[in-house]
Amino acid sequence: MEVQARAKLNLTLDVLGRRPDGYHDMRMIMQSIELADILSLSYNDTGELRVRTNLHFLPNNEKNLAAQAALRWWEARGESPRGLDIAIEKRIPVCAGMAGGSSDAAAVLRAMNRMEEAGLSPEAVAEIGERVGSDVPYCVIGGTALAEGRGEVLTALPPLPRCWVVLCKPEFSISTPALFAKIDSVRLRCRPDTQGVIAALEAGDLAGVARRMYNVFEDALPDRQRARVNDIKNTLIQCGALGASMSGTGPTAFGLFDDEALAQEAQERLTEFGGEIFCVQTQQ
Ligand code: ATP
Repeated sequence: MEVQARAKLNLTLDVLGRRPDGYHDMRMIMQSIELADILSLSYNDTGELRVRTNLHFLPNNEKNLAAQAALRWWEARGESPRGLDIAIEKRIPVCAGMAGGSSDAAAVLRAMNRMEEAGLSPEAVAEIGERVGSDVPYCVIGGTALAEGRGEVLTALPPLPRCWVVLCKPEFSISTPALFAKIDSVRLRCRPDTQGVIAALEAGDLAGVARRMYNVFEDALPDRQRARVNDIKNTLIQCGALGASMSGTGPTAFGLFDDEALAQEAQERLTEFGGEIFCVQTQQ
């Protein structure tokens, strides 16, 4: 069975505080985009769980989140693991704040629900996904959603009006644990207007959403990396983006466009920054 694993972007990201269990309480608005990994799953007779990807540095064993998802699936169903081959064609940049690994895990769970004719609802599949990681439940459901708690408490929102997204994952990577550790000590310049974005979504107001996008992790980036993310955002705005922000813990920066030609021009301009650059549409 072949399935797609879609990337997500954060239209907003707010960290509300640290919890007694060490995790952080989050409030973020997530959006699926058309950029996707392609996964192929097939049962084998060897009894082994094997993962292959086109990126040599990703784990090809049980450390891969796709394999984790298969193991958690059998565990939740009270079944013994079976021989399974998972081939992943990665297109979503890795360590980019776009939930690439979580999305692969979600795609495996959706595929296994169908292959094994288990008939679970998306919500029940999402609950199994929570055992793999906090972003997995959202990746199972997709679309436009408010994610709270660790990210696993989901509320569906009216879809973002269809638009073009131009995004750039710069060549450097950001350590997610280091950024979470730092966010407790930095003074946040401002917070996203989450309610304002929800009201704009309810009104179908793309420009209203785009101009309110904000991610508190931008304030926690080391200076040089923050400067680079700002340069990308400024270039996107100069090219006609309705708004620009960073996704997740970065470093991917993106802009929303209501005009395809402007979006394509912006994609070309961004080549000066290097890294991985895409122009795609949002996914509902
Ligand atoms: P998030 O937005 O959820 O913070 P991310 O985009 O920052 O995610 P990912 O690309 O999802 O990061 O994951 C990066 C880490 O997870 C890497 O250390 C990588 O080795 C590991 N990993 C395990 N399985 C996968 C997978 N299927 N795809 C990508 N990374 C994976």
